[in-house]
Amino acid sequence: MAKGSWKELHWQIFFAMLAGLTTGALWPEATLALGFFGDIFLKLLKLIIIPLITFSLAAGVASIGNLRGVGRIGAKTFLFYLLTTASAVAIGLVLVNLIQPGKGVVLPLKEAPRSVLEGKTTVGEILMGIIPDNPVAAMANSNYLQVIFFALAVGAFLTLLEGERRRVWMLFVEGGFDLFMKMTSAIIRLAPIGVFALLGRTIAQVGLAVLEPLAWYMATVAAALALQAVVVLPLLIKVLGRRNPGAYARAFAPALLTAFSTASSNATLPVSMQCATERARISTRTATFVLPLGATINMNGTALYEAIAALFIAQVYGIELTFTQQLIVLLTALLAGIGSAGIPMAGLVMMAIVLRSVGLPLEGIGYIIGVDRLLDMARTTVNVWGDMAGCAVVEHSEGE
Ligand code: ASP
Repeated sequence: MAKGSWKELHWQIFFAMLAGLTTGALWPEATLALGFFGDIFLKLLKLIIIPLITFSLAAGVASIGNLRGVGRIGAKTFLFYLLTTASAVAIGLVLVNLIQPGKGVVLPLKEAPRSVLEGKTTVGEILMGIIPDNPVAAMANSNYLQVIFFALAVGAFLTLLEGERRRVWMLFVEGGFDLFMKMTSAIIRLAPIGVFALLGRTIAQVGLAVLEPLAWYMATVAAALALQAVVVLPLLIKVLGRRNPGAYARAFAPALLTAFSTASSNATLPVSMQCATERARISTRTATFVLPLGATINMNGTALYEAIAALFIAQVYGIELTFTQQLIVLLTALLAGIGSAGIPMAGLVMMAIVLRSVGLPLEGIGYIIGVDRLLDMARTTVNVWGDMAGCAVVEHSEGE
């Protein structure tokens, strides 16, 4: 989708949200009937998940393999991305447990969905549950974790192929990724209808009281993003990157603003590259490696948001998650971050992985979608800020 039409879509979503709020409050019966359109939207989102994660993860991992020649710098970048994303998710989990934004309302639950890992409590059992007996069955049963395992393996082994075979397979996974991204964009285009119908129905069912937890939820995500953006990442830029975080952020200001306004890491990439080499004195070698890889797999903000949103959804449906389940949320939020494409609302689509891994209702997405726009802008900014931090750290460690 072109830049301009994203902007248009965001306004449409905003007005859809207002319309959903108004009609849900004033004409609950009629709005309940329109909830049907929200269900269609949710079904379309579910439909795209399996193909999207399969191709996105396979293509993502295969592209890391392509960069294997870069060796040490590749390993360092990957490790940095993994650790900072894990720390972001941990911050999110701590805050959502402390603030408990979803306490207070209990949304009606159609039927309690079962976790794909149900009954598995030890680490061994959980790991065994992630390895599929049959990848096709895993896809048919929407066992996202097993599909992720398979997709990662395909991507990794693809890099061992040589010559023409490898080229053809790369073309297949990358082409598949492009194809399903196009479908995802088309589905996201329908978001205004989904937002209107789903938010309207929630308001009609539970009343305007649901807005308060939503405000707390937004505040929790904002606080966690702020901690990651103004404490953790600047500290790393200072200590490991030996740069002044304030000046560094100023050098990247145009890119950070682009990220905030477009809510898309992909759309921001060209601007980040330019800022890195022309304003932040990052070598072209580092920038051309670290930034594109980051835009594809490093999503600090998205992963953090996934974890908070999942726990928030658990809270509003009155479902308690055990410590082990929260660890599974941590792991799956990390994977959802890696698997999210750098386009607006991609994180929302990936939510399904996290929700399903611990048996939370996918309908929960319908509740938070109305306020996703603003959070998307904020998390995308943190996503790209994380990539920039990676640039500083890798650059210094390479002695550039
Ligand atoms: N919009 C985000 C990005 O492009 C992904 C997400 O939806 O979280 O970085």
